[in-house]
Amino acid sequence: MNRPDEGTHFGFRDVTLGEKQGLVNDVFHSVASRYDLMNDLMSGGLHRAWKTIMVNTLNPPRNERPYALLDVAGGTGDIAFRAARASGKGFRASVCDINGDMLAVGRERAVKRHLDDRVSFVEGNAEALAFPDRSFDGYTIAFGIRNVPRIDLALKEAYRVLKPGGRCLCLEFSSVDVPGLDRLYDLFSFRVIPELGRVVTGDAESYRYLVESIRRFPKPAAFADMIRAAGFSRVNWQTLSGGIVALHSGWRL
Ligand code: SAM
Repeated sequence: MNRPDEGTHFGFRDVTLGEKQGLVNDVFHSVASRYDLMNDLMSGGLHRAWKTIMVNTLNPPRNERPYALLDVAGGTGDIAFRAARASGKGFRASVCDINGDMLAVGRERAVKRHLDDRVSFVEGNAEALAFPDRSFDGYTIAFGIRNVPRIDLALKEAYRVLKPGGRCLCLEFSSVDVPGLDRLYDLFSFRVIPELGRVVTGDAESYRYLVESIRRFPKPAAFADMIRAAGFSRVNWQTLSGGIVALHSGWRL
């Protein structure tokens, strides 16, 4: 069991585990209303393609067969909406996020998209999910796990709430592995993104945290070991866009 005074990091800053969640929550309270716009601007729309790949990999049933998805750190609902559109009448998604402001934006978007009957929003912590054991067919977490202080606990919770035969997919920023692109990516990350954050959200610091936290996140093979340690089988991953992001997969057998 981790103690709250144990050390971790918030971007490049050393903080305690107890402090980290509050700092992360401040970031997403601050950017919630402009979060979706910033995603498009920062990634040139690429985040949409990455999310589509995640949902295609999940491959929820297109017929009437019941399928329950839990999208953790689901924020404004992007993954759940995409999955709902790609699936049949039996599909239901619960979007769970620790931040009420992000969920409020998501709820509004669900109503606008006429998906509020199939996608619901629940406030909760990835480290201690308020869902029964073995209750979901799929668990997704996109650009969320990096923000969770105790990643090992979140992965154990993912395993607990999945039914046997259920799949966990984790989409996260990773490390660029193409010579030349890495230097360009660093320049863009450390110079352009915080400035874009300042102009669009009035908050450069939150976007500095974003780029720093990406650099602190484990490399794909190390993260795959963490997923295995939580109990998952057949763990693998693919990198996308030269390693800018990685999509990890694991099964509860
Ligand atoms: N999944 C969405 C997407 O891809 O657009 C949102 C990702 S956003 C970068 C990260 C989200 O993680 C935020 O909405 C934040 O509130 C949430 N988050 C951070 N720590 C969390 C925790 N311990 N439990 C649940 N959600 C958390």
